[in-house]
Amino acid sequence: AGAGTEYGDALATRRQLYGPNTSLSYEQPLMIVRGHGTYLYDEGGVPYLDCVNNVSHLGHGNAEVASAVCAQLHTLNTNSRYLHPHLPTYAQQLLKSLNASAAPDANASCCSGSGSGGRLTAAAAQPPPPPHPASQGPAIPSEGPSLDVLYLVCSGSEANDLALRIIAAARGPAATHIAVMGGAYHGHTSALIALSPYKFWGSGGAGRQPHVHVVPCPDPYRGENLDGRAAARAVLAAAVRAGGRLGGFFCESVLSCGGQVVLPRGYLRDLYSELRSWGVVLVADEVQCGFGRLGAAFWGFQTQEGVRPDIVTMGKPIGNGYPLAALATSRELAGAFAAPGMEYFNTYGGSTAAVAAGLAVLRVLQRDGLQQHAERVGEYLLSGLRALREVHSDVVGDVRGLGLFLGVEVVRDKESRRHAPATARWIKERMKARRVLLSTDGPYDNVIKIKPPLVFGFREADVLLQQLGEVLRRELTPDVRQRLSQREDELWAAVYGPRHAKYRENERLLYGSSDLPRARL
Ligand code: PMP
Repeated sequence: AGAGTEYGDALATRRQLYGPNTSLSYEQPLMIVRGHGTYLYDEGGVPYLDCVNNVSHLGHGNAEVASAVCAQLHTLNTNSRYLHPHLPTYAQQLLKSLNASAAPDANASCCSGSGSGGRLTAAAAQPPPPPHPASQGPAIPSEGPSLDVLYLVCSGSEANDLALRIIAAARGPAATHIAVMGGAYHGHTSALIALSPYKFWGSGGAGRQPHVHVVPCPDPYRGENLDGRAAARAVLAAAVRAGGRLGGFFCESVLSCGGQVVLPRGYLRDLYSELRSWGVVLVADEVQCGFGRLGAAFWGFQTQEGVRPDIVTMGKPIGNGYPLAALATSRELAGAFAAPGMEYFNTYGGSTAAVAAGLAVLRVLQRDGLQQHAERVGEYLLSGLRALREVHSDVVGDVRGLGLFLGVEVVRDKESRRHAPATARWIKERMKARRVLLSTDGPYDNVIKIKPPLVFGFREADVLLQQLGEVLRRELTPDVRQRLSQREDELWAAVYGPRHAKYRENERLLYGSSDLPRARL
């Protein structure tokens, strides 16, 4: 790719006419004109193994979704102001999956490849905050409500923005502060950039706004911030110190942009139960990890015992690429949102064609057993990655994940466990040269992300493992490592060191000075 004039024109014209900061992958971008299953094809017909696209959940160019949408477009595509038989069917199916009983804790710490070492930094250093106004209102179920009401929207951002509106309606002006996880991304609207440390502490970010409180993300690999209850107390207290009250907490049940982090066993349960007792509305953002990708359960929150959110937001795979997203909540919260009398309307959200796509996705997922497939292939791939880590432990610090939602943490050496973003990016580029597509993520951009379409099979896992093995064995020579090491120093000085300082400053703000007693799990 790259030589043809069609490619050259597409690149030049895009650079000229398209928003200059619109995300584009790879040093030399790819022109992709076709997709099938877990492969993408460039303009010359060259196939690339797609290990990243978590939107084309059932695979690229899925015929059943395409036919369902196409047939619906030929018949009718209108908004949800009319009755249509598909809508209640879809709502019933989706809500049923959310209310299914949770799996026993699937995110055992064994899922983090190398276990933990180092320090535990979470601490219950703050006094408990004063009673939350909401705690004097109707009783809040300690186990979490049944999720019986659905709103259909067009994107993950819309779903999370709607969650904010529901929280505001339900908890009122006394509880406008929101807590989020370190490294989190929840969407591209102004309100959600403010809830996304990934962006506000990332390049070009404007920093944390006073109504937002950041829970230091657990880092099981380095043994940091592992106590959910201490984290909850710290953010509750931080909101009070800032002159407000927490109304909501947004969290992915397995963190994606945060660096493919599997939360330690019991962490979210403890965090949820503490926050819930203060009336905080608990939002599970399942935009990336939902719909069976994790293998062990259909929804991320169901991989953790005792975790029942008040609101679940979903998107990406829900329509296999057709714009559809959703929010599910309890009758009580939906009632509070509706109470002032303002109607909710969304032109494209839940359109007849979008619901046709959603129904087709659920049908194929279930019929083809893709959740179980993700579990089996994911385990196989994870064990292959662990074997690679054994051999290349000076570069591959940790491998972790659930199902087909995996991460490979690249470090400068196994003793220091320092983040190595330049090396991670170099691996990504070398893998692309070998026609395997990966991405990098995490606050330090040093975690290689694996989240392919769920039709990714054992054969594809072998290709990925073999190519990654060759890159590490043959291409990452001492010379290359030397060059990358210089680049790591430069990047740390210019970008990641200052970012790290912001995260550490936040920990100090929440947990007090470093000589305060540290809570242990
Ligand atoms: N939440 C999470 C966890 C996401 O990863 C994303 C998108 N990357 C969003 C929300 C926003 O979704 P969308 O891009 O569909 O607005």
